[in-house]
Amino acid sequence: MKEVTVKAFAKINLMLDITARREDGYHDLCSVMQEIGLYDTVVIRTAPKGISLKVKFDDGVERGFSLVPNDTKNLAYRAAELLLGDAGVNGGVEITLHKRIPVAAGLAGGSTDAAAVLRGICLLYMLDYDMERLCALGAKLGADVPFCIMGGTALAEGIGEKLQVMPTPKNTFILLAKPPVAVGTKEVYQAYDRLLEENPPALADAESLKVLLRSGEANAISLVPHLYNALALVTEPQHPEIVELREAILEEGAKGALMSGSGPSVFGLYDDPAIAQQAAERLQQRFPEVFVTAVPFCRDHVAQEIA
Ligand code: ATP
Repeated sequence: MKEVTVKAFAKINLMLDITARREDGYHDLCSVMQEIGLYDTVVIRTAPKGISLKVKFDDGVERGFSLVPNDTKNLAYRAAELLLGDAGVNGGVEITLHKRIPVAAGLAGGSTDAAAVLRGICLLYMLDYDMERLCALGAKLGADVPFCIMGGTALAEGIGEKLQVMPTPKNTFILLAKPPVAVGTKEVYQAYDRLLEENPPALADAESLKVLLRSGEANAISLVPHLYNALALVTEPQHPEIVELREAILEEGAKGALMSGSGPSVFGLYDDPAIAQQAAERLQQRFPEVFVTAVPFCRDHVAQEIA
């Protein structure tokens, strides 16, 4: 029996704009995705046949973990099924997910577990899949999966699956927190569609952000004028807790703060790790889930968990 342990890193969106609503109901996006040092741990073992899955989390911690399916609906299970079938592997896997990333939080928790399973099975069974082929397979599981396979920093277009690698910002410390509110991705997009019909927002200036990133000069300060999330236009009026958290992060010295993905997580950018750490210690008295991580980060680095 062989075993691999793969870290499944969360992502945030430094920018997220909706550029079009498609005939098929999906939305075209223009987004800058950033991998961060908060991760689930995925342990995969070879098995004679079939797929089994266990989901574990620290006792006493509740970040929506009860929402995580431990059956064939789990994206990690579906990733294993897809790759083992595609590669025609004569064997199975036992997967154990150690969840740490808050669930349904706009942090791509399920997608990154799926990506980690794809990478892990390639290692375990020595499958000859290059990045492009693995990403194409991952896109069948969800639009965020290809980015989670690649990691780093990328401009995402299409429904999120068309990726251009970008240089990673420097000297950026990220405080991430999730307010105690549930936000459904589908409902957020439906609300955005109503906004598009009634009062369509102007498109964000993605070009200037691309220029900044490509210059290699992006950091916690230069990124601030470019932080934008179109979906916050609908979630913030509906959930004052998101606004309250964003304002609290700004009051605690962040250079800028923004909701990630379809929310409700909010991140703040800091240029000083000590200030980010102090802010986290104060904020965790008001909000249950607060993390600090750095960009770029060492892939072996554990996001420090404050809550
Ligand atoms: P995204 O940012 O990609 O929209 P998210 O971070 O908002 O995703 P997830 O944490 O992926 O959301 O959870 C969304 C739903 O996916 C959960 O409510 C859960 O039912 C389902 N799910 C399936 N597999 C997983 C998994 N491995 N981890 C977490 N949730 C999963």
